[in-house]
Amino acid sequence: MARAKVSEVWDAVVDAGALSPDWGGLPGTDALTHAQVMERLQSADLDEWASAAARVGFCSSPVRLVGSSLTVDRTSGEVVRQYASSDEPGGVTFVRCGNRRADRCPSCSRLYAADTFHLIRAGVAGGKGVPESVAENPLVFATLTAPSFGAVHGRRAHRRCRPRAGPAACCEHGRPTACFEVHQLDDPQLGQPLCADCYDYESHVLWQWWAPELWRRFTIALKRRLAQLLGADLGDIASLQYAKVAEYQVRGAVHFHALIRLDGPQAGDGFAPAPSEVTAGLLSEVVEQVAAEVTLAAAPVTPDGTTLVLAFGAQVDTRVVRASRRTDDPDGPLSAEQVAGYLAKYATKSATDTETRDNPHLRRLHAIAQRLAAQAGAAQDPNSPYLLLGRWAHTLGFRGHFSTKSRRYSVTLGRLRRARQRAQIHIATAARAGTTVDLRDLEAELLADDTDEATLVIGSWAYAGSGWANAGETALATAAAARAREYARRRACARRETQSA
Ligand SMILES: [Zn+2]
Ligand SMILES: [Zn+2]
Ligand SMILES: [Zn+2]
Repeated sequence: MARAKVSEVWDAVVDAGALSPDWGGLPGTDALTHAQVMERLQSADLDEWASAAARVGFCSSPVRLVGSSLTVDRTSGEVVRQYASSDEPGGVTFVRCGNRRADRCPSCSRLYAADTFHLIRAGVAGGKGVPESVAENPLVFATLTAPSFGAVHGRRAHRRCRPRAGPAACCEHGRPTACFEVHQLDDPQLGQPLCADCYDYESHVLWQWWAPELWRRFTIALKRRLAQLLGADLGDIASLQYAKVAEYQVRGAVHFHALIRLDGPQAGDGFAPAPSEVTAGLLSEVVEQVAAEVTLAAAPVTPDGTTLVLAFGAQVDTRVVRASRRTDDPDGPLSAEQVAGYLAKYATKSATDTETRDNPHLRRLHAIAQRLAAQAGAAQDPNSPYLLLGRWAHTLGFRGHFSTKSRRYSVTLGRLRRARQRAQIHIATAARAGTTVDLRDLEAELLADDTDEATLVIGSWAYAGSGWANAGETALATAAAARAREYARRRACARRETQSA
């Protein structure tokens, strides 16, 4: 096998022992998968396959496309580039799956997190086409929680779980209502109710079902309150922008983490200065008040049921965000990097990250969601808001998007993706010509709208399936993705060391 052509990343996966009969194989692979790995490693077109896998960043389950495209110069009509999948090994073109979830595709999820980071950061400090003056506008980072549905075991900063003074007390089911343990991070008890029979599972699922609507009402109420404060129609003097992600807590309830920014009235490119009366401190107070007040009357699941009044939990946390801050003050405002980092991390987590920690509490929430959906179905009310609840049983009733933002928060993910594709074309062209490119000088061009482009791409593509040929190829790609990440991390460390030296 020609090892010389294979990249450093690839060499690290397929270490020198790979072709010796006593190689243990990739960790966690069964006998069949191992045989497929060996078949791929000994194949004649390994190098071509490895390059194709590298081009999609070692995505775990790439989409396979067949077809061709032409890149045409808009002014001269000249064909600048031609590309066809028939020129590729196996006659297919691989495209990243683009899944945001780390448990589905580590590689695409990292890319999604990186894009989310830049998107969030641009809305705090400017950049990527957003003016730096946006940093002057009041901005708060708010966490809106679910209320309590019953006591659960939790970690409280090295303190005991739920201590109680006085004689030991029990609930009506004979279970203790206190817990004196200091739980560790990996304690399976975390998030489990002290008494599953006392825990209000129905309210939990119904709250989760209505959580997106509760958020919508919160934004409407917030706009109204700000308009009252400013004594004018909000649209005339200001506009409210936000980016938010939903995150599951160990108890299986979602939290919303949101960046909420007040801009001036919407005109031109947006991001105008906010009215001077509203400071970040005031915005933070108003967010807390409104979050505490907003409610929603949820229709009963069955005709004989009662209407539930839903609200956010009492624990609303808001903090002021500044584009830059003194890092030596832990209680000071959050920085752009901090909030962008938090939100990017949360955005790639999912319900299944919680569900894979299979436990009785989450199983019960799942079952209750299914039961409520069945009850709503049996009631035969065509207008019942719960008829589709069963479809969201796997997300424990949460039907919202995990990551959303208002239109003018900052740049869009689509624009960042197009910019990356353009950057890759620049890099590939430079590599062929033997020159180097400094992409920083090209940022405006990379982020330009499609209509500004000098060329037009005409293509005809058909879907030919998704995923690698077999589990062996998937295992190789996944292992390479992990190595590529380590490699990138080492390089970043080395860069930091040279910079500080
Ligand atoms: Zn992928
Ligand atoms: Zn406990
Ligand atoms: Zn009980």
